Amino acid sequence: MYDIIIVGGGVIGCSIARTLSKYDKKIGLIEKNYEICQETTKANSAIVHGGYDCKPGSLKAKMNVKGNSMFPELSKDLDFTFNKIGSLVLAFSEDEMKTVEELYNRGIENKVQGLEIIDAKRVKEIEPKVSDQVVGALYCASAGVVDPFNLTYAMMENAMDNGVELFTETELIGLEKNHDGILVKTNNGDFQTKYVINAAGLYSDKIANMGGDYDFNIIPTKGVYRLFDKKKSDTINTVLFQTPTERGKGVLVTATYDGNTMIGPTSDKIGTVEDTTTESESLAIIDKLGKLSVPDLNPKNTIRVFTGVRAKPNTGDFMIYASKNMEGLVHCGGIESPGLVSAPAIAEYVEEILIENGMDTKKNPNYNPKRKGIVRISELSTEEKSEKIKENPAYGKIICRCETVSEGEIIEAIRRNAGAKTVDGVKRRVRAGMGRCQGGFCGPRVIEILARELNIDPTEVRKDLSGSKIVERHLKK
Ligand SMILES: Cc1cc2nc3c(=O)[nH]c(=O)nc-3n(C[C@H](O)[C@H](O)[C@H](O)COP(=O)(O)OP(=O)(O)OC[C@H]3O[C@@H](n4cnc5c(N)ncnc54)[C@H](O)[C@@H]3O)c2cc1C
Repeated sequence: MYDIIIVGGGVIGCSIARTLSKYDKKIGLIEKNYEICQETTKANSAIVHGGYDCKPGSLKAKMNVKGNSMFPELSKDLDFTFNKIGSLVLAFSEDEMKTVEELYNRGIENKVQGLEIIDAKRVKEIEPKVSDQVVGALYCASAGVVDPFNLTYAMMENAMDNGVELFTETELIGLEKNHDGILVKTNNGDFQTKYVINAAGLYSDKIANMGGDYDFNIIPTKGVYRLFDKKKSDTINTVLFQTPTERGKGVLVTATYDGNTMIGPTSDKIGTVEDTTTESESLAIIDKLGKLSVPDLNPKNTIRVFTGVRAKPNTGDFMIYASKNMEGLVHCGGIESPGLVSAPAIAEYVEEILIENGMDTKKNPNYNPKRKGIVRISELSTEEKSEKIKENPAYGKIICRCETVSEGEIIEAIRRNAGAKTVDGVKRRVRAGMGRCQGGFCGPRVIEILARELNIDPTEVRKDLSGSKIVERHLKK
């Protein structure tokens, strides 16, 4: 008998798992994919937004501003990358400056920290690569960028250290109310539980329907991105937004948490949540709009293009509430942007809903809120490197040349409690394959290490989602 079953191993489900692990409860998290973090949380702008553009009074505004304030401490406790690099909303005309003022006023109403309207001279001091056409900007010092993957892994690893159980390749297929609470039916057996948390991202409306709730629908909307090589000269320091105009919401140019430059996303309504195709027409649009902010951007320096899908709710706000039809069921639906920054605040909001709905608050006596990340050999001093290699020679064997990632780091990424099971899972945890060659050199070595560590044949190693086999067959054994 479980106390709580969480459905979905994205940033929302993992954040909830970690927050609830401070209670003395039997908690399980079920995830339909091979690994956690394989859907929306893996493909987004990775921005810890300030919270000035959310409608005042909305759940989005409250969760965004509170979530933002939690990141500095959270990143220290859980040892993931959060760079508070600040953001600028650029205005290229006096008309756009009026929009900047509106955003400033809205930000003040939302209680956003570090907001300031600045002139063109200050903009160029902060970000010299911005177009000379800039007139002024809204500066938000509290905004930043995060490593969305390691944020999610860190939350789940810490939750598991505190006793939460993870069930991957386990898909919720039905919910049934009974005397003991709720029967959670999956392709991998049934779970009896008191509470169920629906954190199923793009499928959260379908899960709500299973509980008899029809309050929201997901309108899938995709965003296309271009990622640049970090060694090239068009690197920038901040997050650059454009003012929303008749051209649309504008395209952002941002530094990533690891120092690459990235442009995107588009906002294209699509027919199905599974559509992650990246069309050249969409790339042409972001290239054109990106150059309005930073004219030097050169598509020749691209190392990757990709697409993320937003779980846009038709209600316009996050749908976080206790089911009206099934006691014990709580929905976290329609968590589109700013879901990443809101994740820790959403987890605390869910905690409050559970307490209001009768959950007892006996504490987990062994709770430890801290977790250590995987040591990056590339960031150690020569002495520290020697020490680490003496401890374990696998740290002296460099597998990914672009990002200087050792075999020791890859092995650790696989062996951790919510460890990597796929090539992309390794890439997201330790960056092997994240550099200029995108795994061209290290890919086959990563497959070998995964096969050895997971005790499977190389033909069984997947790139990412189920069905994404890489090695078809052996030519010789
Ligand atoms: C283009 C784009 C840009 C964005 N930019 C930002 C940004 O800069 N800042 C920001 O704060 N937010 C941003 N977001 C939003 C943010 O990425 C999301 O809000 C967040 O990742 C949602 O997390 P989630 O856990 O709800 O969903 P997901 O990460 O999709 O996780 C849901 C999980 O549920 C699992 N699941 C679904 N159905 C079942 C089932 N039946 N059984 C078991 N498991 C199931 C899925 O497999 C998945 O792993 C952006 C989103 C997009 C698409």
